[in-house]
Amino acid sequence: MKRKGLAAVYDKPNTPFRIREYPLRDVKDDEVLVRVTMSTICRSDIHSYQGHRPNPCPGILGHEIIGIVDQLGNEIKTDLRGDKLSVGDRITWTEYFHHGYSYYREIKDMPQKSKGGRKYGHDLVEEDPHFNGGFAEYCYIYPGTGILKLPDSISDEEATPLNCGVATMIAVTEEW
Ligand SMILES: [Zn+2]
Repeated sequence: MKRKGLAAVYDKPNTPFRIREYPLRDVKDDEVLVRVTMSTICRSDIHSYQGHRPNPCPGILGHEIIGIVDQLGNEIKTDLRGDKLSVGDRITWTEYFHHGYSYYREIKDMPQKSKGGRKYGHDLVEEDPHFNGGFAEYCYIYPGTGILKLPDSISDEEATPLNCGVATMIAVTEEW
């Protein structure tokens, strides 16, 4: 694969994003490459941009992301519900990813707090495979990410805020 993609790179707080090109590589067996079709601007993206919270620079912001599966690793067969995943499917995925055993996932039902967990939109862009946030043409999905295939009945505008804003609101209001 000798393809490239563009990203709106966040260099430092309160400065314009710079459009940069990075190479795309083939996915590993446990990864997915997605062509991003929509990403929200979350309030925390704005806080990062304003310098109110630490976020690695240069990086790609955006963690509520949906897109179309461009390449599927050999080990990725189904989504969280067990539905078959294929190239061309429209998907969303969790903001965080964590691979391996996690006390917070298994015991506390809070996988997003797993030690060593990472988040999309919160990594350095210079490191392989570069595309790790929503403000770009592509995003790689890593092991330990919850992937969901989206039904046609949900629009992009409805689906994109589900994995941070809506999820946060539900977590706040649901009964324990
Ligand atoms: Zn958010």
